[in-house]
Amino acid sequence: MCAAPINLLNLDRQGCEQLAVQLGGKPFHGRNLFKWVHKHGALDVQAMTDLSAALRQRLAAETVIELPRVVREQQSVDGTIKWVMELGDGQRIETVSIPEPRRLTLCISSQVGCGLGCPFCATARQGLSRNLSTAEIIGQVWVAARRLAEHDRRPSNIVLMGMGEPLANLKAVVTAVNIMQDDLAYLLAYYRVTLSTAGLVPQIARLRSQCRVALAVSLHAPDDALRNELVPINRRYPLAQLVDACRAYVAADQRQRITWEYIMLDGVNDHLHQAKALVRLLQGVPSKVNLIPFNPFLGSDYAPSPAEQIAAFRERLMRSGIVTTIRKPRGDEIAAACGQLVGRVEQRRVRPSQVAAAFAGGVQ
Ligand code: SAH
Repeated sequence: MCAAPINLLNLDRQGCEQLAVQLGGKPFHGRNLFKWVHKHGALDVQAMTDLSAALRQRLAAETVIELPRVVREQQSVDGTIKWVMELGDGQRIETVSIPEPRRLTLCISSQVGCGLGCPFCATARQGLSRNLSTAEIIGQVWVAARRLAEHDRRPSNIVLMGMGEPLANLKAVVTAVNIMQDDLAYLLAYYRVTLSTAGLVPQIARLRSQCRVALAVSLHAPDDALRNELVPINRRYPLAQLVDACRAYVAADQRQRITWEYIMLDGVNDHLHQAKALVRLLQGVPSKVNLIPFNPFLGSDYAPSPAEQIAAFRERLMRSGIVTTIRKPRGDEIAAACGQLVGRVEQRRVRPSQVAAAFAGGVQ
């Protein structure tokens, strides 16, 4: 065998079935294998007792289970846990577990860094290093699920809202979503997996044809001029195209709606006339708006909107019949909140003067 071993975490159920057949077994052996890996968290093929000795032998010789390695775990006072995970090539990503009274949401990454350059996001500062493989995406779930099981908890929801733009890594993401939703693996109903995008319009239709997930869109501005600035990919795919693609995404399913994420930046996008413009923009699209208080990070140029302004903005939307929620920042003090992932580590490297100033000012 000179080919590189196959990382079993790259395979969904169908992939495992095909592999089993290739190695001389039957499709149902592949299903058993898949279940061992994800449902039981087995790392040793010899423990997979319902596979024949011959198949186990070949699996041992030709496959591996290579997981991201947790290099740091931080727990916030609110119960949020952030894991820094190191990949095979030494790159680092972050995964966050967010407990709520009736659910437990995992926020996972889809890329190392991000190439979209939104100026309010810490991840954007590091640029894009590379896409994650399916194994690296689902590996975050595998690792988190095992750690949470030690406390008798399991993820009830997964959001692709960590580092990266998931639609820029569609193929690997779709396979990972298949695994999350498979009842032999993580058993999540489609509406419990949410993918958040900055608006890669052509990929939205592709996503719809390849899997079923709830869609969240980082809107952040009600008009093209402002959105070009805040979400630069808007220059390529302006609002009219984005809204059309989203309308089509939910068209086939009465129960689906788009979640529009809208970060609240003081004096930038939080005026009431902008709420009114938002109402006009979203007319006819089954929608929910999620207002996100801006989480500042070292060196960011924006300020969070005051709580009263956020409440007034919400009120204006609600009055027009748009269900609007305000996202509660979680894990703020461990830099696990939206837009903060890996930011501090990165800035420590590139901006030592600012870090020194922050320490002098008592931050952290
Ligand atoms: N690239 C995808 C998913 C990752 S970001 C996307 O853009 O949707 C997840 C959410 O956090 C997005 O809505 C993003 O705009 C928001 N976000 C980024 N930086 C933030 C910050 N500093 N404070 C609050 N939310 C932020």
